[in-house]
Amino acid sequence: MTRLAIPQIDLAAGYRELRQEIDAAVARVLGAGAYVLGPETTAFEVEFAAYCGVSHAVGVASGTDALHLALRALGVGPGDEVITVSLTAVGTVAAIELAGARPVLVDVEALTGTIDPDLVERAVTARTRAIVPVHLYGQPADLAPILEAARRRSPPIAVVEDCAQAHGARYAGRPVGGWGEAAAFSFYPTKNLGAAGDGGAVLTPDPQLADRIRLLRQYGWRERQVSEVAGYNSRLDELQAAILRAKLPRLDEWNDRRRKLAARYAELLAGTPLGLPVERGKGRHVYHLYVVQSPRRDALRAHLAARGIGSGVHYPVPVHLQPGYTRLGYPAGSMPVSERLAQEVLSLPLHPQLSEDSLRAVTDAVLESWSS
Ligand SMILES: *Cc1c(COP(=O)(O)O)cnc(C)c1O
Repeated sequence: MTRLAIPQIDLAAGYRELRQEIDAAVARVLGAGAYVLGPETTAFEVEFAAYCGVSHAVGVASGTDALHLALRALGVGPGDEVITVSLTAVGTVAAIELAGARPVLVDVEALTGTIDPDLVERAVTARTRAIVPVHLYGQPADLAPILEAARRRSPPIAVVEDCAQAHGARYAGRPVGGWGEAAAFSFYPTKNLGAAGDGGAVLTPDPQLADRIRLLRQYGWRERQVSEVAGYNSRLDELQAAILRAKLPRLDEWNDRRRKLAARYAELLAGTPLGLPVERGKGRHVYHLYVVQSPRRDALRAHLAARGIGSGVHYPVPVHLQPGYTRLGYPAGSMPVSERLAQEVLSLPLHPQLSEDSLRAVTDAVLESWSS
C-alpha cells in the first residue's frame, strides 16, 4: 500500500502561493514600527467592510471576541437570553456567556446543519435579546425567517451573524455579514480568510454600534488614557492586518477553487452511500469545510488515515454535551439532529491548494472503503 500524505488542510501551501505579498506585508509592518491598531488595521477595516458591502468593520483579537463585543455593544448582559446552536465551534457559546447572557441552544436542520428557524421561533421568550445564526461549514443559515421572527418582536430582537466560517458567502444574492444588526468574523488561520495568528472583526451598518465596539476593544478609550466606559483588551495587531490585506484580494478566487473542488467531490462520490453537502438555493456556499455524512464515519475515517489521508470532525460533541457546558441543562437526546450529526459528519481534505490528483486519491480511498 502506498502511503499518501494528504492533510485535511494545508496552511503552508496557502503561504507558498502568496509568499511575495505576505513577506512584503510583514517587512512593511516591522519596518514601520507600529505593531498594534495602526494604519494596517484601519486600512484592512475599510477594505474588508467594502468587500462585504457593509459600512463599518472593527478589527478585534478573535472571532469569539467579535461576537462578545458585538453582543455587549448591543446592550446584551445578565438576565438576557441569546439563542444559538449547539453544533458549532464552542466560541459561539463562550461569547454569549462572556457577555453575561444565558445561551439558549436549539437544534439544526438535518440537511445543512444550520439553525432550524422553527425551533428559534419556539425558543423566543420575553428575555430573548439576540439570535446568533451560525453560517456552518461556509453555508449561510436560512436568515429570512429568523430576521422576520426577530423584527416582528417589540422591541425587536437583535440578529448577530456568526460568519467565522463564511467569508465571501452569499445568502439570497447578498454577502453574509450585512443581514443583521452586527456580524462576527474570525481570522483564525484555518478560516477562509485566515491570519498567521488570531484575529477577528465585527461588521455593522450602525455607526454608533461600531463606535461602541471601538471603545470596548481598548479599555474604553477614545482618547488614549481616558476610559469613557469600562472596556477590554481585544486589539487586532498590525502583522495580522497586513497579512489579511495581502490575502483579501485572493478570497474570491480561493473560494471559487473551494467550490470547484466541492463540485468535483460531489461528482466522484455521487454513487456512494455518503450523505453529501446540500446547497440551499440562491446562496453561495464557500465550503470552509467539505462535510459528508455516514453512520460508519469512524470506520471511514480510520480507513482514510491508514492511507495517509487526513480528515476532521466538526464537531464530535455538540456544545450542550461538552463537560464544561452540561451545566446549561440540556440532556443527551434534547437535540437529536445535532447529536446524530456529531456521530456521522466527516470533513474531507479541502483547501484552495488541493490538487486534482490529491482529490482523486481521496475519492478512490473513500470508494474503496465500501468494497473492502
Ligand atoms: C472559529 C469559529 C469561532 C471562533 O473564532 P476564534 O477566532 O477562534 O475565536 C466562532 N464561531 C465559529 C462558527 C467558528 O468557526
